[in-house]
Amino acid sequence: MTSAFSKLLDNLQTITDAGLYRSRRVIDSPQGINLQIDGRSVVNFCSNDYLGLANHPTVVSAFKAAVDHYGVGSGSAHLICGHSTAHHMLEEELAVFTGRERALLFSTGYMANLGVISALLGRSDTVFEDRLNHASLLDGGLMSGAKFKRYAHADVDNLTVHLKQATGSKLIVTDGVFSMDGDFAPLKTLALAAKDNDAWLMVDDAHGLGVIGNHGGGLLEHDGLTQRDVPILMGTLGKGFGTFGAFIAGSDVLIETLIQKARTYIYTTALPAAVAEATRASLKIVIAENWRRDKLKALADRFRLGAGQLGFQLLASSSAIQPIIIGDSQRAVDISNSLLNAGFLVSAIRPPTVPKGSARLRVTFSALHEEFQVDQLLDTLDKATTRHKA
Ligand SMILES: *Cc1c(COP(=O)(O)O)cnc(C)c1O
Repeated sequence: MTSAFSKLLDNLQTITDAGLYRSRRVIDSPQGINLQIDGRSVVNFCSNDYLGLANHPTVVSAFKAAVDHYGVGSGSAHLICGHSTAHHMLEEELAVFTGRERALLFSTGYMANLGVISALLGRSDTVFEDRLNHASLLDGGLMSGAKFKRYAHADVDNLTVHLKQATGSKLIVTDGVFSMDGDFAPLKTLALAAKDNDAWLMVDDAHGLGVIGNHGGGLLEHDGLTQRDVPILMGTLGKGFGTFGAFIAGSDVLIETLIQKARTYIYTTALPAAVAEATRASLKIVIAENWRRDKLKALADRFRLGAGQLGFQLLASSSAIQPIIIGDSQRAVDISNSLLNAGFLVSAIRPPTVPKGSARLRVTFSALHEEFQVDQLLDTLDKATTRHKA
């Protein structure tokens, strides 16, 4: 026992030496563009609450009213006695919102991805994953036991080579908006490759839904793709929607299959009904308030222009995720700490979350930011990076 733990201590030291040690900051305020950390107010540039709905008064009051009606806990899994009217209505509304036959709620996006891929594939099948897919998609593919093929990022030609050699059921899995880079998957070309090779296409649009598309329908709306093109759509509710949870949308037969077979659906407690009610309220705002998406676009454009002028290395992102590539992990952390001292919270993202040598500051915007805050961030970034020279 003692020696096993001393090995863990050694491992922690190795992580520290590589500049990869992770720790939490304790937040003492609601989510929003201003956070209280250690008694100080800082401007938040790292949240996924893109539309500013996590503490929206209408969403908060819907949550409170639902707690008065349903209480806090959901009591059991959906298939036992935890599936409330609130869950059911939200599923129907999400199906309409995404233009799909049905939607099924999961407790988290991580679980949705594990559950779907494992329910659809077994040992004789093959899963194809973009190299930069979110960890939950990679883990889902591994857990399914299917043959596992990673293709070069957004490279449909490379994917096609793998597809031609594959056996069994074929499932192509990709982020829609890539979570750490902010770029868009080439969904139209992927949908064609799927059709040509008799494969399913699954898109995880955690960072696109609510945020991209004229009506917030995500990357699939942006690209005009239907359920026929993308039979499996995954969305999360803890990002653009500002609440918590996730869903899969698709055909009736897909959803019924998941209810029978997805273990992360069957063997877990339903999310609280009040969270579902709060999400129904946020969905209405997502649909109605285009200004939030327009504002995000304007903020990201302003940031890109300014960052380009200052000579920062940006990625080809037109989303609310605007990473600045730093390279070295320790340097990314040092800059992030400098920014925090100056009153800006920007997270340093390091391997293994991103490829080796590509540590970055992941700047994200909220519809609640003001343009002057973007300018202040750019100014502070300029000073912090000069102080921590490469
Ligand atoms: C956040 C995220 C998830 C996980 O969703 P949770 O609800 O937070 O578990 C899955 N996929 C992508 C691309 C994500 O960014």
